[in-house]
Amino acid sequence: MRTPLVAANWKMNGSKTFAERFFSDLNLEALASEVVVCPPFPYLSLVAQGVEDKSALSLGAQNLSQESSGAFTGEVSADMLLDWNVRYVIVGHSERRSLYAETSELVAKKYVAAQEAGLIPILCVGESLEEREQERTLDVIAAQLKAVSDIIEGDAWKHSVVAYEPVWAIGTGKTATPEEAQSVHRFIRAELGEAGAEVQILYGGSVKSANASALFAQADIDGALVGGASLDAKEFAAICRAAG
Ligand code: PEP
Repeated sequence: MRTPLVAANWKMNGSKTFAERFFSDLNLEALASEVVVCPPFPYLSLVAQGVEDKSALSLGAQNLSQESSGAFTGEVSADMLLDWNVRYVIVGHSERRSLYAETSELVAKKYVAAQEAGLIPILCVGESLEEREQERTLDVIAAQLKAVSDIIEGDAWKHSVVAYEPVWAIGTGKTATPEEAQSVHRFIRAELGEAGAEVQILYGGSVKSANASALFAQADIDGALVGGASLDAKEFAAICRAAG
């Protein structure tokens, strides 16, 4: 009932040559899952080209402004992303929260800006190592979700994706065990209320082909948000195949 989804987050990596080679190396034949590629902004048009050639693939962005237009130097609006045929946009990635001081309230505004324009937000939530050790994981995630719940209306959750990304697992090679991840995913689904049954909840944090199948076997893990391993087209395709 929920289509598996795997999203590539290239972060600030790649080049024109890299993007061209990625798509020539990417083999997604006979794939049942949905695949999203989120390159840096300058490569959106190039990746859009690659996406047109691959029917199972959608284009994603890594960030957007909460504002629609105006004097906001360096920012990119939801409508601008739509002009590039972007379908998904990551909001609240832990690197944005920690390195660029994005609060849960700002993330919620970006979520709404994306949805109002017709984009599908991929909302990232997750706890730091310190918060996990203090057994505050579920409280932290509940607060991150509540910031969005507080300002959305109706069935908005149904038109979004949530990614559970424990901060201590991002780019560290440490993954949550499938059971640890599943218990948080179950909690998130319950927090989403009636919409929960329909929302794709992705796991992110050092996912690779070697650990993907065990994670995807969990009842509430509907796919992955993949950072480092998404820079290798063959490895990324193997993760996509593990999803379905
Ligand atoms: C990410 O950046 O969202 C991520 C999960 O990174 P990695 O797969 O490298 O841990």
